[in-house]
Amino acid sequence: MNTAVLSPVGSSSYSDCLEAIRARVVARESKLYDVAVLVVYVHQLERLYANVGHVNAGRMLDELRNRLALVLRPGDYFTRLSDRKFAFVLSNLRNQGHAILAANKILRAGTEPLASGGQQATVRLSVGIGMFPAHGRTPEALMQCSEIALLEAWKTSQPVTVYTARKADELVAGWDLEAQLAKALEHGDLILNYQPKIALPDQSIVGAEALMRWNRPESGNVPPEIFIDVAEMTGQIDPLTQFAFHRALRQLSEWPETLGRMCVAVNVSPSLIGNPDLVDMVQGAAGLWSVDLSRLTIEVTENALMIDRQRSHRVLTELRELGARVSIDDFGTGYSCLSYLKEIPADELKIDKSFVMNMIANKADRKIVEQTIALGHSFDLVVVAEGVEDERVAQELTVMGCDFAQGYHYARPLAPDKFVEWVQGWRPGQVGSD
Ligand code: C2E
Ligand code: MG
Ligand code: MG
Repeated sequence: MNTAVLSPVGSSSYSDCLEAIRARVVARESKLYDVAVLVVYVHQLERLYANVGHVNAGRMLDELRNRLALVLRPGDYFTRLSDRKFAFVLSNLRNQGHAILAANKILRAGTEPLASGGQQATVRLSVGIGMFPAHGRTPEALMQCSEIALLEAWKTSQPVTVYTARKADELVAGWDLEAQLAKALEHGDLILNYQPKIALPDQSIVGAEALMRWNRPESGNVPPEIFIDVAEMTGQIDPLTQFAFHRALRQLSEWPETLGRMCVAVNVSPSLIGNPDLVDMVQGAAGLWSVDLSRLTIEVTENALMIDRQRSHRVLTELRELGARVSIDDFGTGYSCLSYLKEIPADELKIDKSFVMNMIANKADRKIVEQTIALGHSFDLVVVAEGVEDERVAQELTVMGCDFAQGYHYARPLAPDKFVEWVQGWRPGQVGSD
């Protein structure tokens, strides 16, 4: 009987994987048996790096790889496709159910804590499954089916997803997000929508957060978290961020004066926070569109700041010296220690929507919101609540002394022209229009 094959770390994994699929398809014992390709994605590696450092994270990922290898049976194949992706080729399976059983075993490997250097962490995994012969007949097609299933798993937050033709139609016409994203950047298919930011308690509009959308009317929407992840992995995050700054600052220069003095917030990915080029990028865009940088807020997540504290500290300090404001996004979900708050060059703290959305139903979340407002104020930071979905939450936040609010209660992120209409029609006290 064949033994399982574990590819050496760092082998040219994609082509080896195709070869392994080809070999297993040829060698399967009879037409009654299937071959399955499982692509496994490790979520939020940035968090792991930020939490335990690169050395420990690297060791933990090696440990994960070893654990995943235990799922193998004789004749199976396993490789690491990239930093955050693994692939399994399972041979001689009786049916799809057996592939799902294997996927569940893989998921369990991620729920057990990983340890290195006295630190512990768990990782979240997603698995996409494609089957031979039902879903694809060539190794390339089969890999594509597994990747499409993985994209569906991401989108729906299901840990395991099996390919269906419908998903392929809905998600991607030809799975190649990297090349498609490059084209989208080139052809101007990326756009920014704007979600109003409201001052509490007088309910005046102070500006908007710019949120990126990929305009793909024929082939379906890809959520920003996914295409931004793709951009990070494929080195396209620089042009994407540059586009965001140019578009947002140009928008500020174009909005009619009747809207009043609008400010705009742009999100910046963790990989760019420690990069001094960010300062030139922001300065260049502000110069080109003649916008005063005091109207720009840069949103960075708490974890992004922890990746390389010294460099991010330097870059953010420079940006603030130029007049831009810095906001710590998704606060409360990360790993920063409170003592670090006193060092962060920031102006604003944004409470993560997961706490705000639950604060009426869940007492603990309410306390977290209350305490975060107090904490932010004690460090002279203004506090924003995101994810405000109803009037009661808005009222409670006002009583708690929260400074600003954003959320579907006021408006969803809006296309630029709709944003103008919305602001022009806004009357404090009137809510819920989008
Ligand atoms: P974020 O910066 O924390 O943005 C807030 C997200 O919450 C947005 O999701 C927004 O549409 C959503 N949201 C706002 N109010 C509510 C509400 O009341 N209820 C609920 N359930 N959700 C609400 P979106 O637009 O899908 O963006 C997701 C994330 O993608 C953003 O999280 C940000 O991290 C990232 N992102 C978006 N645009 C960009 C960009 O231009 N550059 C970078 N680097 N990241 C971006
Ligand atoms: Mg944000
Ligand atoms: Mg946020």
